[in-house]
Amino acid sequence: MDQFEDLNATYLYCNQCGGSMPVKEKLLLILPDGCMYEYFCTHCGSVVGDKKTKSGLKEKFF
Ligand SMILES: [Zn+2]
Repeated sequence: MDQFEDLNATYLYCNQCGGSMPVKEKLLLILPDGCMYEYFCTHCGSVVGDKKTKSGLKEKFF
């Protein structure tokens, strides 16, 4: 019974839980130069971090 369902789970420190907890990624914003993701604790639901990725746009704007 010590199995994790989500093998791709990311762990981040959660203040509410006081430890490293599995987090889920949620798309927050789509920006012109990338996407903003938010990580929230799967245990208590608080936001524990965010990340911004480059979208790798192929188009160039001139
Ligand atoms: Zn938590």
